[in-house]
Amino acid sequence: MRGYINAFDVVVVFSILSLALALDHQPLEDPTLDPHHQSAKSYSGYKVIRADVPLAQVPMIEALEESLDVEVTARIPKGRMLTIDVLAAPEAESKVLQVLKYFDMEYEEIIHDLQDMIQEEIYEEIENFDLRSQHQMTWDNYHSFEVMHKYLQYLEEQYPHLITLIEIGKSSENRSLVVAQVSSGTNQPAIWIDGGLHAREWVSPTTALYIIRQLVEKYEQNEAMVTMFDWYILPIANPDGYEYTRHYDRMWRKTRSKHFGENSRCVGVDPNRNFEFKWLQGGSSSYPCSDVYAGPYASSEPETVAISEFLMERKDQLMVYLSFHSYTQVWLMPWAYISDLPKNLHDLEEVANASATAMKKHNNTEFTVGTVTKLMYKASGSSVDYAYGPVGIPFAYAIELRDLGQYGFLLPKNQILPTAVETFDGMKVLAREVYKKLPKYRKHSSSNAELITSEETTELGTASDETSPS
Ligand SMILES: [Zn+2]
Repeated sequence: MRGYINAFDVVVVFSILSLALALDHQPLEDPTLDPHHQSAKSYSGYKVIRADVPLAQVPMIEALEESLDVEVTARIPKGRMLTIDVLAAPEAESKVLQVLKYFDMEYEEIIHDLQDMIQEEIYEEIENFDLRSQHQMTWDNYHSFEVMHKYLQYLEEQYPHLITLIEIGKSSENRSLVVAQVSSGTNQPAIWIDGGLHAREWVSPTTALYIIRQLVEKYEQNEAMVTMFDWYILPIANPDGYEYTRHYDRMWRKTRSKHFGENSRCVGVDPNRNFEFKWLQGGSSSYPCSDVYAGPYASSEPETVAISEFLMERKDQLMVYLSFHSYTQVWLMPWAYISDLPKNLHDLEEVANASATAMKKHNNTEFTVGTVTKLMYKASGSSVDYAYGPVGIPFAYAIELRDLGQYGFLLPKNQILPTAVETFDGMKVLAREVYKKLPKYRKHSSSNAELITSEETTELGTASDETSPS
């Protein structure tokens, strides 16, 4: 297997792509802008191909994304290789295979027909007019933004002493961006969690909501977590994109903003490339139709602005930033824009490893811990870099939840609850481990955290029987 790229290879790849490149000159019109557009995008015949690619040749595969209906949906490190998942449209499949074969790359088809899997997932949300049940939230199905939002309102009504909803902004399509503040009212150091920044990663909002549920509805069992920390949880960070995946395009990733220019009428920006820190400095695209489009300028998205401002306003209180994504089961640390290691790498790793160990307890779900650039790819303008960099939150992470690619973004319903339960196990340990390190990081002495007795901390440690870190 060759480990370098020469000019001849480039010529071969581009000749394979020649037909596709010609397609680039067609006007870039998003079909969904048609007011009569009603039907969902079909992924019939779309395949996911998994290939082992030497690092040097990854750009060759990425070149396919620019010109074909092809997307690299996952990157999993494997020594000096990268295992990548390539989502290919039927008309692009033969070209992808030609390139893989030319470079002698090992590959296998892991999803035969994506539409078949989407079909299995379809679930009609039926409005429940039974007034006795005050919300319809469950963890055996993926629900609409409306159902999830109403659940938060229900919690606020039932548990006003524990949970306060804060609208931190509105999406492009005017949906509320709602942070659930869970607090015992004593202004503790805080943990931020966001879910659903990427629209198609459906298990992420449900997991974030489950954490809110455990902290509020199961407060008696989890009291120590709320005594130690205030929690700010934004479960649906990209509600427009989420609703769009439910009705029109299951694989949509971006927001739904419309920044139309002369050359493009493509919709949406990758919010996780849009944050105002090292914006557009690698691992993102200035091409509006790209799935990693960084936006016309930094913080162009109302979702990004709302999160950035909220984090900045509470920078002295926030100790942890966590962003839930899927899939590939990795626990990611800064930096994402550069391969440099974060200053407090040792502490970041200790907390992540302890939490990942706890997440393994129930179902043996294994998470790999590492920096974004080491485990995945360079990504500038990400939320984790923004939280760690300009905001200065010492424990900043992004977690790619289940699975390892068998279902990818289409994680079956029967895995929603197990994913949520194991992640909550991780959160318990995360809270405990960060709490132990607080004296080292405390920014303000006004916090009451030190008033918690060591007895209570120990109680948390024993009440949950997670494996203790060594
Ligand atoms: Zn994501």
